[in-house]
Amino acid sequence: WFPSYDFPDDKATSEELITVEAGETAIGNGELLETTENADGTRTFHYKMPVAHSSYLTSFVVGKYTKYSNTYKNIPLGFYLYSTGDLPVGFTVLPDGKTTLPTAYARTKNMLAVYEQLTGVDFPFNKYDQTVVADFQFGGMENITVTTMADTEIFFTPEGNVLDLVSHELAHSWFGNLVTCKNWSELWLNEGFATFMEAAYREKVFGREDYLRKIREDAQQFMAADAVSRNRHGLFFQAAKPDEDLFNPNNASITYLKGGAVLHTLREQVGTENFWKAVNVYLNRHKFQNVETADLRRAMEEKSGADLGWFFDQWIYDAGYPKLVVKHAYNPKTKTLNLTVTQTQAANAKTPSAFRLPMKVEIDSANGAQTETIEIKKRVATFSFKTSGKPTKIRLDADEKIPLKTVKYL
Ligand SMILES: [Zn+2]
Repeated sequence: WFPSYDFPDDKATSEELITVEAGETAIGNGELLETTENADGTRTFHYKMPVAHSSYLTSFVVGKYTKYSNTYKNIPLGFYLYSTGDLPVGFTVLPDGKTTLPTAYARTKNMLAVYEQLTGVDFPFNKYDQTVVADFQFGGMENITVTTMADTEIFFTPEGNVLDLVSHELAHSWFGNLVTCKNWSELWLNEGFATFMEAAYREKVFGREDYLRKIREDAQQFMAADAVSRNRHGLFFQAAKPDEDLFNPNNASITYLKGGAVLHTLREQVGTENFWKAVNVYLNRHKFQNVETADLRRAMEEKSGADLGWFFDQWIYDAGYPKLVVKHAYNPKTKTLNLTVTQTQAANAKTPSAFRLPMKVEIDSANGAQTETIEIKKRVATFSFKTSGKPTKIRLDADEKIPLKTVKYL
């Protein structure tokens, strides 16, 4: 039992004294101050985490472990693999000849550098360990300074998924551990950002197309879950309860997948440069403290100079997403294209009847392509464009600023 104030809004330092059997290792939060060999053959590990943190980030892992060490700047990095027989499982050779250890962890240093560069905030703690455990209830858990990962995720999933898991948990060092959601209704600030940062890392190392693919797949997975959901709610989840239901597939698809996709749309709305400047303000202003959605909105408004009330209302506090039906009519005499965009999502107390959707429209015709900028504001919106010829193809939001939508062309 761990008697504690089990709510994220009161941070405290922690200290762990863990006695284990001979041959076992204990990995705790923060710095290992000392290891004591006891007369009865047991060993006691003494860890101290001098930076205040929420109680849910407290952890320790015990087992027969082999440690692989590395450093990033002056930060020690540890990779702990448990042993089965003589060899640590990290040396398992995969069918393609690679070993699991470098596959899972080789990018950690690069991820630290990318996240520091994107956020403008140095890694906030004095060590980063990653441990692999058996029979874990989650894929990974961002326990402070020592992420815990399920062996099933590290060893038995495709390489790309492992990369996303490692980058996701590391991102929590900034989003979740440095600034922490104030209550469980605001959990999306932790998980939406960690999911978005998976894509942001991919953009830096693999390029924009891979970033968009990740965002698109997350958005589509969310919409598939939403279609069969009986408990639809906004990213801000008023009725959130501090139990395992927070992470059931329905709630996780909102908090993680919709959260990541909405942060992408926010980035596109305010512009990439403003977005990262605002992220920097948000992290620095609230470091080692707790945050709520209003804090993110304030930072984004300050750096963009725009009122984002409508954006946060429809994407964070409301539920659902727009389902667009597009009709077109072309007048060859006047060379005019008329577009009618109808929002067909079922409107209710949680879902807006009309989302506000600024986007680009690409129109191809035999005489060339053109791009128009529109802002859909009403349930039924009409637009008129002069074109150079009869349109052969019309595409809304071709640059995928708003992945959370469906579009049907009639
Ligand atoms: Zn997470």
